Amino acid sequence: MKPKILIIEDEEKFARFLEMELTYEGYEVSKAHHGRTGLEMAESGDYDLVLLDVMLPGLSGMEVLRRLRRTSSVPVIMVTARDSVMDKVSGLDTGADDYITKPFAIEELLARIRNVLRKAGPRAEGKVLRSGEVVLDPWSRRVTVGGVPVELTKREFDLLQYLLENKGIVLSRETILERVWGYDFEGETNAVDVYIRFLRSKIDEAFGLKLISTVRGVGYVIRDEN
Ligand code: CA
Repeated sequence: MKPKILIIEDEEKFARFLEMELTYEGYEVSKAHHGRTGLEMAESGDYDLVLLDVMLPGLSGMEVLRRLRRTSSVPVIMVTARDSVMDKVSGLDTGADDYITKPFAIEELLARIRNVLRKAGPRAEGKVLRSGEVVLDPWSRRVTVGGVPVELTKREFDLLQYLLENKGIVLSRETILERVWGYDFEGETNAVDVYIRFLRSKIDEAFGLKLISTVRGVGYVIRDEN
């Protein structure tokens, strides 16, 4: 199967040029010209690699990366303008896999893409999260219990993923809010309790499990003995 690459780049001519080159190299390419649409597409789990421009309208490349990393570990190569050391440093801190500085030779980009894809390995490998019969696949954004698919909303999915990623660790409501809802969330901390209830009704009650435990006065945890 051809590796799928998403290009998030607002300069349409440049995006088309990249698309042509990458297609010629045998990649399957999609494009987004705005931060927000780019983020939505990247979150879909349909891509093997994201090429992300730092300077974007709507949502900056850095913000796209920050939000994407809440739910996805898809490899990201940041495209930074000129020689902005700050962009490189904060891009790598935020979870970019590599960066490349404009203007660049296409050969350099191709080498970086090959390198990042090689390091990432086959898509499904080691990325699936599970606890007992509950299996969550971040790439396809699917959850199954004993092989039976469970329909979750985006927020429910993100919450379950975060709990599974931190299996065995008791997570406070505040931590969960920060990581799943985002630092800019303004609302009630009981949003967490509400969504835990949703998850329990769709998973615990529906399948007779005890997946999510409440630790009184502290928060929530998934342990493996469910
Ligand atoms: Ca740009």
